[in-house]
Amino acid sequence: MMSGRTIADMTAVEVRDAIERKEVSAREVAEAALARVEELDAHVHAFNQVCPDLALQAAARIDAMVAAGEALPPLAGVPAGIKDNMNLVGTRTTCSSRILQDYESVYTCTAVQRLLDAGALPVGKCNLDEFAFGSSTENSAFGPTRNPWDLERVPGGSSGGSAAAVAARMVAVSLGSDTGGSIRQPGALTGTVAVKPTYGRVSRYGLVAFASSLDQIGPFARTVEDAALVLQAIAGKDPLDATSVDEPVDDYRAALDAGVEGLRVGLVTDMLDIEGCAAEVREAVEGAARTLAALGAEVGEVALPMSRHGLSAYYIIGPAEASSNLARFDGIRYGHRVKDAEDVLDLYMRSRAEGFGPESIRRIMLGTYALSAGYYEAYYGQAQKTRTLIIREFAEAFERFDVLLTPTSPTVAFKLGEKASDPLAMYLSDVYTIPLNLAGLPGISVPVGLCPSTGLPIGAQIAARHFDEAAMFRAAAALERALALDMVPPLVRK
Ligand code: GLN
Repeated sequence: MMSGRTIADMTAVEVRDAIERKEVSAREVAEAALARVEELDAHVHAFNQVCPDLALQAAARIDAMVAAGEALPPLAGVPAGIKDNMNLVGTRTTCSSRILQDYESVYTCTAVQRLLDAGALPVGKCNLDEFAFGSSTENSAFGPTRNPWDLERVPGGSSGGSAAAVAARMVAVSLGSDTGGSIRQPGALTGTVAVKPTYGRVSRYGLVAFASSLDQIGPFARTVEDAALVLQAIAGKDPLDATSVDEPVDDYRAALDAGVEGLRVGLVTDMLDIEGCAAEVREAVEGAARTLAALGAEVGEVALPMSRHGLSAYYIIGPAEASSNLARFDGIRYGHRVKDAEDVLDLYMRSRAEGFGPESIRRIMLGTYALSAGYYEAYYGQAQKTRTLIIREFAEAFERFDVLLTPTSPTVAFKLGEKASDPLAMYLSDVYTIPLNLAGLPGISVPVGLCPSTGLPIGAQIAARHFDEAAMFRAAAALERALALDMVPPLVRK
């Protein structure tokens, strides 16, 4: 083995190459990942469920291919975490909710299946905010996930378990879902690379729906290349999801070496002035813009004044769709059911009241209110108009620029409990990420520095045109190479 690094520290690309060269077996990789989970997850709680049998079975298939001299798939032997709102046969899919805590998956999510078909080893199901409602993973019914950079701080959310598992090197890659920032924001707070693809780029089949017009599955990884490989594996049309789009998938790996010469980068200046954006975050993102300029990109400034209203529109549209999607959890067809109901209405009401946590109940109430007769135009109608204006504003910006640069999150990782009792402060975490969901655009969060005062990671968000993930990978790979940050959290370094 390489000196000083263990198998669990390897990137996806390194794992696959080492297996191909027979320096390590897939079984050893699986065992190293499981040992790392055993060692660290009592502190981090990235996983709701670990599935050693599935991981070892998948590893045995890869080792049999190696023995037979067969060509290996692109993610052969790569340990992977899966957010626990995606179905995988052989696991429970709980959405970190009591209402689904015993729900056994009866089919496998397309994105997960594609990841496994590419050779990945499913190590376990990752913790999240209940039904993906939140920005800290504190809304999990099974207890919070902690940030490997500082165990007193949150990893972000809602895909906090997927982010922390990658940051703590329990797995090389993971899948999250992003409705308003739930991949990118935890990516920024844990110093990982995190991608929300274009709406329609990845199938949502088998992902438990939060807001169907916004949800998208995407990868976490420790390098831009690994993230690109995972997206390559999961992207593309799926007949089982009518909103997945039959648009050719670019060769993302080729984009990584393209450099940024001539790439037009728009630094979104008015977003840097948003109240609550930490000075260190602002400086790191401005520094990233200077780095891109030094590498040959044409960096200019752009304002997106409509985008700051995205937050208000999102907290109407998101809950409206969620309240309708969550109606299926009625205690009859799925999940938790009270035993002693007096009649069917009593059964519905009490099963739901016992099964859903406080944030889920808040979203259901917000959404139901926004959609109710008499308020529909004032709230939902207004929010949809705002959404249209944001879509147009981005379309204009992308006439002048190939990618847009903003912070991913206004602050570094905050302390557990710090925002838990103030939903509005928590909602503000997503001010930079939400506009892309509303417009269906792709975005990546890439580490751009460590905060001078806290030592915690800072991420920048790079957005691109619809289906032009290659452009954002180009910029992110160039930044990663130029900055050459050492992103090993203290928990792993020890
Ligand atoms: N934090 C946002 C929310 O609470 C986004 C969540 C997500 O993207 N799933 O809704």
